Amino acid sequence: MKAEGRCHRPGKTLVNSSLRLNRRQILGAAAAFGAAGALSLPAQGAVSPSVAALPARSNVVIRNAYVITMVQGEADLPNGDVRVENGAIIDVGAGLAAPGVPSIDGSGFILMPGMVDTHWHMWTTLLRNMSGNKPEHGYFPTTTAVGNVYSPRDRYYGTLLSSAEALFSGITTVHDWCHNIVTPQHAEEDIRALQETGIRARFCYGPARRMPATEAINTDDLERFHRDWASFSNEGLLGFGWRGVQAPFRLPDGKFELRPLPEAVYRKEHDAARKLGIPISVHLNSTTNDRGHILALQKQGLLVKDLQIIHGIFTSPEEMKAMAAAGAVASVSPYSELRIGFGVPKILEYLDNGVTVGLSVDTTPLTGNCDMFGIMKVVQNIENGRAENEFKLPARRVVELATIEGARSLGLADRIGSIAKGKRADLILVNTRDINMGPVTDPYYMLVESAQAWNVDTLMVDGRILKRGGKLTAIDSGMLMAEASKASREVRDRAKWW
Ligand SMILES: [Zn+2]
Repeated sequence: MKAEGRCHRPGKTLVNSSLRLNRRQILGAAAAFGAAGALSLPAQGAVSPSVAALPARSNVVIRNAYVITMVQGEADLPNGDVRVENGAIIDVGAGLAAPGVPSIDGSGFILMPGMVDTHWHMWTTLLRNMSGNKPEHGYFPTTTAVGNVYSPRDRYYGTLLSSAEALFSGITTVHDWCHNIVTPQHAEEDIRALQETGIRARFCYGPARRMPATEAINTDDLERFHRDWASFSNEGLLGFGWRGVQAPFRLPDGKFELRPLPEAVYRKEHDAARKLGIPISVHLNSTTNDRGHILALQKQGLLVKDLQIIHGIFTSPEEMKAMAAAGAVASVSPYSELRIGFGVPKILEYLDNGVTVGLSVDTTPLTGNCDMFGIMKVVQNIENGRAENEFKLPARRVVELATIEGARSLGLADRIGSIAKGKRADLILVNTRDINMGPVTDPYYMLVESAQAWNVDTLMVDGRILKRGGKLTAIDSGMLMAEASKASREVRDRAKWW
């Protein structure tokens, strides 16, 4: 699957005046601030007027950039060229001969592979910044209460906004962990947003938030998507979002606790995905009271190749070794894990035990944005801080995690994640002359320490230029924000969640 946007931030006046407002007034004012007055949203199945047809795949040579290839054992090209044709990288080198081929001047830019997110509940971005400071307004109560009344059209707008922000921020591949499929139409609309925006994605078919622990997901529908996948996706992947052996259960006081699922349920779901040969992903070992699951899965024969373990903050070294032996991978989302109080994520320990690690956004109600540069920086800071060692996690290794290792963890390393002949053309140009970037030093230090989403000048997915000169090319981000704000206000009204 192959999409753009800009974050709306309330102005200073709104923030200051909100001190005297209650929560409902603040959210209502914010929605009104972001939405056009009489805007009407297109019906389900219609393309948002904010999204134009995707640009054609470009035939172009990018010249004289600092090329970070991320190919193991290969040096960077300080003054390199990359030629793109029909969505593929067809040549990499210095002074490439390409007579008559249009060129992009890469001088002053870092040219690197597009960044890879490995786990993101993209539908939740309509609820950005809505995890409050009180237990009743926390992440799980909010996303469950509002998620229960999401319409298929709301799914479309949540994922459209996420995709647009991803592309704006330099992320070319996402793992859309869709864990609120209330009806098949909810999944179809979610996938449609990915397709229309042109982002590369693995769509992860997951359970509805309100699904009882005694019920398995609709495996017939999962099989239908798998059978008809070509009609849903332009080359995207299908995966399965598994609850694992337990699920959150809402207590009378509004808090959540994890309760075991019946074996018949979790085995039926796991077996369905294995039968289809699609990768499985699960949140496990996330909190201090939620540990030991990987050994338990191993005992039951459920720790399988390509199983993606999300969070895994409390995974033991023995479990990591078991993951590596099985070919299971890890995805860490430091901003959500820290913000929600799960704990401090482990990155190096997984790597040292031979586990492939990808970085992830998770959910913007907790993280606020999808800034992968920020995620890289906090990953380095966490590991250096934990080790009490300024030099523990080198910047280049962190950039690998955000590119080629992320691609590897999603089973895509043969197609994306590095700049090499034959790979798909998922590329970004980062401007080293922006005010927060220079003066020019080591490009990896610049990317991990200084870079921000707005420094991404140009972005290409499968050869299509979806951001150029700092602006999205196929999405009107102002119009999208107005539509998404309206959808957000309406779904919160339906949930009576203010
Ligand atoms: Zn998650």
